[in-house]
Amino acid sequence: MWIRSLWHKFREQLRRLTVFRSLKTRFFIIFLLVGIIPSISVRSSILRNYEERAISVRTSDVQNQFKILANHLITYGYLQDTSSEIINAELEQFSNLYDGRVLIIDKNFKVIKDTYGLSEGKIVISEEVIRCFKGESVSNYDRRNGYIEITTPISFSGVSHDQIEQQDDQIQGVMLTSVSTDTIMATMDLLSRNSLILESIMMLFVVVIAFVAAGVLTAPFGRVTDAISKVKEGFTDEPISVNDYAETEHIVDAFNQLLGRMKVLDDSRKEFVANVSHELKTPLTSMKVLADSLMMQEEVPNELYKEFMTDIANEIERENKIINDLLSLVKMDKTEADLHVSQVDINEQMELILKRLRPIARKQNVEVVFESIRPVVAEVDEVKLTLAFSNLVENAIKYNKTGGFVKVILDADHQFFTLEVADSGIGIPEEAQEHIFERFYRVDKSHSREIGGTGLGLAITRSAVLMHRGSIKVSSVLEEGTTFVVKIPLIHQVS
Ligand code: ADP
Repeated sequence: MWIRSLWHKFREQLRRLTVFRSLKTRFFIIFLLVGIIPSISVRSSILRNYEERAISVRTSDVQNQFKILANHLITYGYLQDTSSEIINAELEQFSNLYDGRVLIIDKNFKVIKDTYGLSEGKIVISEEVIRCFKGESVSNYDRRNGYIEITTPISFSGVSHDQIEQQDDQIQGVMLTSVSTDTIMATMDLLSRNSLILESIMMLFVVVIAFVAAGVLTAPFGRVTDAISKVKEGFTDEPISVNDYAETEHIVDAFNQLLGRMKVLDDSRKEFVANVSHELKTPLTSMKVLADSLMMQEEVPNELYKEFMTDIANEIERENKIINDLLSLVKMDKTEADLHVSQVDINEQMELILKRLRPIARKQNVEVVFESIRPVVAEVDEVKLTLAFSNLVENAIKYNKTGGFVKVILDADHQFFTLEVADSGIGIPEEAQEHIFERFYRVDKSHSREIGGTGLGLAITRSAVLMHRGSIKVSSVLEEGTTFVVKIPLIHQVS
């Protein structure tokens, strides 16, 4: 049971978290706070100001009235004799008017008059009374109990101007008044209620506006998601566009770039598959034609039979080469992590490559020269790089002229080693130079096929060089020759 309630709580927390992670919710909360906090603070500050103002007006009203009354008290000698009906009536009127209580205290701190009739004859020695005897009229507002306490000195000040310096002596008594603030509070209640109604209406507006504004502001992000979803679900593969904000534009631009790259990759994948199928089919078609024509003839002469079988064997050889090259290419397409790096003596490696290729060169009457400027030892994948360099030298021999030469130069600086493979061959037309590293690209298809090319050699070479974080460049003049320059770091850096 408790596991279930715990699970419920956990889910609730999770749900709440996702809600708070929403931009729309955040906007809503911000608008709500921006709208509500000022209205609440304005309301409470208006009420506070009103209260302060009303209390101070009431206090000064009462103080003024009692100053006049104090003069009357002196004039009528009320402190000596409290029987004056006029003053008593006046005191009664005051206490009724302000819904308060008036105490008259004489010089001996004795209460000689209490409009409530409760404390007459009692002695009152409070801080306020003493301060008042010193000439200070004090007022205290007791908010909790709802009254203002005011002390007013009863003095001769209004009667005689000559005795002003002897103020202490002038003060004959003190009037202690408590004035109720009920009417102020009632007005405040009314004001507070009205403003609360107003505030509630405003809050309702703020909630609606905040909700709508949050929705409107976050709508473009929803549009971005919708557009991306459409692409994801395959309804369209056109670039999307949501230009409401700079932010959405950035997101959409980044997405479109990604989409573009994916399209290019997809196109090249399709093209590659088409090329592979075509290349693999060509030798098979030839073999089928050869075999069919043998089968169709009744009595085949032995020589013709042999000749056709040799052709079939050549086609098989070709098919085999294409498959091997494809496998090599697949290996080269892997990441740097698949490199088996070791310290390799490049001079020695080149000598071995050239030793293997010299017999082919000799057949074509091409001279192969190796010029090693300095000994080079580098951290490389020997197998992959051997394949890359072999392809370059083999091409230089294959696409050469009889009696031509191939010159291989190995050099190094403190960071890289460079291998230059120059030939005196047929050259590569300018417009073809940027394509020769593409898979299955051949300048002259039939010529390449004649000499056993697959169009994959340079693609393999380039992949191997790039895996080593190196570079490969070609320069060529038609009918004069071609030069490939490979540059590879001496030390392999792991990323
Ligand atoms: P292939 O197997 O056909 O030789 P490559 O990828 O090795 O394929 O080369 C691609 C094309 O580049 C070749 O078909 C050829 O037309 C051209 N090529 C490569 N190397 C040379 C070179 N040294 N001289 C002239 N043409 C070259």
